[in-house]
Amino acid sequence: MDFQQVFGKPPETQASAPGRVNLLGEHTDYNDGFVLPTAIPQHTTVQLGLSSDRQHQFYSQNLDERVSILDGNHTPSGFSSYIFGCIQVLEQAGYTIQPLAVYVQSSVPMGSGLSSSAALEVATLRAIRQLLNLPLDDVEIAQLAQQAEIHYAGVQCGIMDQMASSLADTEHILFLDTRTMERRVLPLPTGTEVLVIDSGVPRTLASSGYNQRRAECEEAAHLLGVKALRDITDASAVEELPEPLRRRARHVVTEDNRVLEVLQGVTPERFGELMNASHASLRDDYEVSVPALDTLVDILQKTAGVFGARLTGAGFGGASVALVAEGEAKAIANQVLEQYNHAGYTGQILVPASNVEF
Ligand code: ADP
Ligand code: MG
Repeated sequence: MDFQQVFGKPPETQASAPGRVNLLGEHTDYNDGFVLPTAIPQHTTVQLGLSSDRQHQFYSQNLDERVSILDGNHTPSGFSSYIFGCIQVLEQAGYTIQPLAVYVQSSVPMGSGLSSSAALEVATLRAIRQLLNLPLDDVEIAQLAQQAEIHYAGVQCGIMDQMASSLADTEHILFLDTRTMERRVLPLPTGTEVLVIDSGVPRTLASSGYNQRRAECEEAAHLLGVKALRDITDASAVEELPEPLRRRARHVVTEDNRVLEVLQGVTPERFGELMNASHASLRDDYEVSVPALDTLVDILQKTAGVFGARLTGAGFGGASVALVAEGEAKAIANQVLEQYNHAGYTGQILVPASNVEF
């Protein structure tokens, strides 16, 4: 069903936003640290018009689900909470939003760690900005999107996903300092491309594990007497902490240092080594990997043409990311998947994407 079929009239405007994959800097954004995401070709498109009654009307083509919401105090659940959240944060910022008809369509896989949620928020905010001609820049859009996700979808996320969806493109890496919002656009290392493979394992413990890691990081920062772990630059400073805080903090500090090394300019080989080191740190110190991801990453790291590989996203399942020789991603993926699936799993190539249009 298209917009016309759902709402009985054509849309007035539309906007899109991409998903993202994080190349390096995992679990650093809620520690005020550094990240290196890039946009993926898959994106979410939001079409908008004014609602024909007093309620907001939301439709997701992916879920084939329609929800009506009276703009009152109650917070909806499911996919509508992200869209409703975007409308609410705009109203809190002082804008009056009339009841809207919102149509969502996306090629970003949901729940694989490629940030379909941020793509939905950023596309929604961009479409409303366009419809009402709101004076918002892309950083403000990202910040509003993050507020919507925290307060209305109930996810205590950092700012990386929304900044990546709002500011990154598929040709570059976005370096972001999540404390100062300072950013730099870096080229992908010469002669490389990005390969993302889904492990096929759902991120079942992701939200409880994520909240626990956040709390551990806050406690570690408190014990070290700093505002956030980003303020620790010398990794040996964490050695005095009790376990498991010592290893949690060591991951964050070394991960920040790996991102900063990339910023100095590194070869594809060195970039790959840093990704491999990131995976080991996420597996051993941060303990957010699972056997399937370890198996997948191990196969990737041993495959010719792969500079480096690691789990990407919060962990506990979800996807892997690898930096591979340009032009070889598909062939490498087929080779890796044959071995991975032979080990009893069901992996899937996500990037390079085969069908991003709709
Ligand atoms: P990720 O952001 O890694 O894909 P999340 O759990 O943060 O995973 O967000 C996924 C949720 O976002 C979905 O369960 C759904 O509620 C919402 N969502 C994202 N894209 C869409 C879409 N196209 N249609 C409906 N809901 C969507
Ligand atoms: Mg998300």
